[in-house]
Amino acid sequence: MAYLNSRPRTPKICPVCGEDVPPRALACPECGADHNSGWKPDAYDGGPDFEEQEFDYDEFVKKEFGPERSPVNQLWWITGVVLLLAFAAWIVVEAMR
Ligand SMILES: [Zn+2]
Repeated sequence: MAYLNSRPRTPKICPVCGEDVPPRALACPECGADHNSGWKPDAYDGGPDFEEQEFDYDEFVKKEFGPERSPVNQLWWITGVVLLLAFAAWIVVEAMR
């Protein structure tokens, strides 16, 4: 790790194109990436990881919200509200006796 401190960060392998970078090189000989524009991890955040995340999100939405929109569940929800209202009405009637 000591050699990393002695030089500005030149990776052994270019993170952009995956080519070997010579230790003294200031830029990647293959794709031309350097530490001003190239091989910082922040420099490219629209990579394959982002697409994977989006795919997972779609799956999540399908699993979490797909069944919720079915008419059967809506019917159960209405039934629950009606029962709750009936229970409240029963309490009011009992209290007025
Ligand atoms: Zn490169």
